[in-house]
Amino acid sequence: MNILYAVSEAAPFIKTGGLADVAGSLPKALCEKGHDARVVLPLYSRIADAWRDKMEFLFFTFVELSWRHQYCGVFTLEHMGVVYYFIDNEYYFKRDSVYGDMDDGERFAFFSKAVLSIIPQLGWTPEVINCNDWQTALVPVYLSYEQDERLQGIRTVFTIHNIEYQGRFGSEIVGDVFGLPQELFDSGIIRFDNDINLMKGAIYKADHVTTVSPSYAQELRDPFFAHGLERVIGDNAYKFTGIVNGLDVVRYNPKRDKLIPKNFGPRSLTGKQACKQELCRSLGMDENDERPVIACISRLVGHKGFDLVAQSLDEIINRGLRLIILGTGDKYFEGVFADAENRHKGSVSANIMYDETRAMMIYAGADMMLMPSRSEPCGLTQMIAMRYGTVPIVRAVGGLKDTVRPYGEEKSNGFNFYEYSGHGMLGAIDYALSVWQNPEEWTKLIRRDMAEDLSWSSSADKYLEIYLSVQNI
Ligand code: ADP
Repeated sequence: MNILYAVSEAAPFIKTGGLADVAGSLPKALCEKGHDARVVLPLYSRIADAWRDKMEFLFFTFVELSWRHQYCGVFTLEHMGVVYYFIDNEYYFKRDSVYGDMDDGERFAFFSKAVLSIIPQLGWTPEVINCNDWQTALVPVYLSYEQDERLQGIRTVFTIHNIEYQGRFGSEIVGDVFGLPQELFDSGIIRFDNDINLMKGAIYKADHVTTVSPSYAQELRDPFFAHGLERVIGDNAYKFTGIVNGLDVVRYNPKRDKLIPKNFGPRSLTGKQACKQELCRSLGMDENDERPVIACISRLVGHKGFDLVAQSLDEIINRGLRLIILGTGDKYFEGVFADAENRHKGSVSANIMYDETRAMMIYAGADMMLMPSRSEPCGLTQMIAMRYGTVPIVRAVGGLKDTVRPYGEEKSNGFNFYEYSGHGMLGAIDYALSVWQNPEEWTKLIRRDMAEDLSWSSSADKYLEIYLSVQNI
């Protein structure tokens, strides 16, 4: 089957979060199952020259976006058995930022239009386009107006990785920027609160909608999680499925990872101890300190639950833990953690940065990974942590609930708490610390984590079932 994965970021080329991990691994898993899955993404200037040097220029065309007539170059390369297409337009993508510009609506509308515009010249036609999040939400919308015969019959699946970011824009740009008929707005398909809402449009127009975990799919019926779209989701429940993300277990492999100081596997955990010492030494903490290290690797945004960490920080340290934070985001949290590092010298390390090497050092060297999320569509951090023998302590919500089985239950692989409070979180930390006191039990837990099947294999099958089912619509 031919599948085109349209996405705004994909590892290892460009990554700001878990979406890139998924785009860099699900298509690979589909190819390994004998399908032809290809990926299309923008050619950002932040994509390293080392990758650009490997790309081949295929052709250029023009994309009609309302009254605009925009150049669209297409570059390609093959990586780990997957063909990638890069959409080149320097006006839109030669910038330091990936997201967050004033004209993001126009940039990703261009990209969505380009995804469809290049297909007739690729010499390869997808049967399904899997679009992801608001940046590619216009693909099913544009496709529904498409006249070109060569695009007829292509089905679309829209995957929601995070409903918090819906692609909302002022209603005045329906025609002028997006080039869409006013009646599409007036009929309510892309209208929400009198704004344009691109995600809403995709939910209505796509042949199927997926979210990145079964629990998140359930939660999205609830206004607390759905950020206003609960009724839209209710209306479309018949074509809604939750599939938990997998991990690129070749990329994330403590036995082979070149970014960590010492490799290790479940049977030989001395390497993990060496990683912990090197991590502590490199962050200016005492490497011989035996205290457990608890870490957070995350965007520092509200829904990740950092208000709980901030308010309970002193209590965490008083319990005899050391805390390592890696992340950027909300200035308030950046300030709180930087300040905590000053107040708790040697016990708190605040790394206010985005750094993939440092992230891997922490995954390998920490003892526990803390994810107290208010909501979490899937979460990859807890899965990467498990793979590196770092025990997750999570709030039981969304994908965290689906992937972390609490201690005491059969085949437990971590700790969880339900109540969104500092008290709830500290309870789970205390439970983890009590097990930590028993090294034999703790080692068993680490080994169970490292033995988890976190691969894409079964989730990729579920995506395939959906791709097949939409063929019959
Ligand atoms: P989200 O997609 O909501 O950001 P996920 O847990 O699904 O959260 O995925 C986050 C991904 O981004 C993981 O691969 C994690 O290691 C990575 N990551 C997050 N923050 C940083 C950071 N500051 N430096 C390096 N990698 C990071």
